[in-house]
Amino acid sequence: MNISSWVEGDLAILGGPKVVAEPAPELFHWPIVTQEDEDAVLDVLRRGAMSGWDVSLQFEQEFAAWIGSAYGLTFCNGTAALLGAMYGCGIGRGDELIAPSRTYWASVLPVFSLGGTAVFADVEEHSLCIDPNDIEHRITPRTKAIMVVHYCGYPVDMDPIMEIAERHNLKVIEDVSHAQGGVYKGRKVGTIGHVGAMSMMSGKSFPVGEGGIMVTDDQEIFERAIAFGFYQRHAEYLTTPELKAAAGLPLGGFKHRLNQTASAMGRVQLKYYDERTEKIRAGMNHFWDLLEDTPGLRAHRPPKGSGSHMGGWYNPIGHYLPEELGGLPVDRFAEAVNAEGAFCGRGINAPLHLHPVFNDVDIYHDGVPTRIAFSDRDLRQPQGSLPITEKLDGRVVGVPWFKYDDGERIEAYAAAFRKVALHASELL
Ligand SMILES: *Cc1c(COP(=O)(O)O)cnc(C)c1O
Repeated sequence: MNISSWVEGDLAILGGPKVVAEPAPELFHWPIVTQEDEDAVLDVLRRGAMSGWDVSLQFEQEFAAWIGSAYGLTFCNGTAALLGAMYGCGIGRGDELIAPSRTYWASVLPVFSLGGTAVFADVEEHSLCIDPNDIEHRITPRTKAIMVVHYCGYPVDMDPIMEIAERHNLKVIEDVSHAQGGVYKGRKVGTIGHVGAMSMMSGKSFPVGEGGIMVTDDQEIFERAIAFGFYQRHAEYLTTPELKAAAGLPLGGFKHRLNQTASAMGRVQLKYYDERTEKIRAGMNHFWDLLEDTPGLRAHRPPKGSGSHMGGWYNPIGHYLPEELGGLPVDRFAEAVNAEGAFCGRGINAPLHLHPVFNDVDIYHDGVPTRIAFSDRDLRQPQGSLPITEKLDGRVVGVPWFKYDDGERIEAYAAAFRKVALHASELL
């Protein structure tokens, strides 16, 4: 089947036939929960072991071995794992975290609860991840760490960032919430920085319900994260004298323990994760290969032959180039693709640096906005300060998240996008 035959005829939004006539929910079904997940969860329930940690310990060891890190630590959600990683890296009062602005808020916002603050760097136009060339000039004596986010699964260009971090004695935290199983130049993402932290929320590519996990080779980061948000199970892991002295009470006043029903599901999910993500990659790559020479659309994935690839391809997006489609706004494009029977959305987080929480809100009653209260200067970044980040509105499309490659139906979905792109002038 050649997709060119699908793109003839009028657009569905203008009264023509739909390209995707029959919806295919099984192509998108996620998470995959089988009898094996159910049995594992039921075992925890029947033993009344939800608040224990025997299953969590097993899951942490298996996950750490899978990703290739010395230590794993489970958390009640990804946000807590990121907070634990920030504290693990030594972020405290007055410290600055350099981060991208186009990300889910949990990559950045927890820094305020440590008395630290955020400095945003711009992103690269192709990867939509933090731009290694926009980091160094933002480093001050207060900078403690760099947060990188493998955004919508695209592996961050880690080598230059690790080099900058080493030169300035900074820690690098990887937010892997979109990217478990992704590879950067042959290495699994989450193992390249000093620590990786990630969500395992039900909708993410590694789903356990509500849950998070942190991985690291650094014993100090591991121990500090335990001391901060755990009070019981981990007393035996603390070797640093000042952390040991605090054992029994969590330094942060937080309780980060994961419900073991989620750990039980995580152990089962992990067994099938490589196989499932391989299938996702086959489906997604097939879709994008079919759209390769389509005007107005470009895949968001590392180039072939780069040694890097996507993981579970969470929240897949593409670049949208309205200038190649006579200026057709992305919303109108998406509406027309939806009318053809295929999902198409906007798919990108709003920039954090323009949100009131990072500009105006005085969270802790300091008399000034929190962003400034925890700094020695006004480091707010107004409209115009991050040009690439800001110009992305209207230049990204959310695309269907295929869970496997079934050939013909993937072709139909790709044809829906291609048809609208080739008929764009009729929508102007
Ligand atoms: C989902 C997400 C988180 C937060 O994880 P939760 O499990 O929802 O707390 C953090 N960072 C990114 C990039 C995310 O997408």
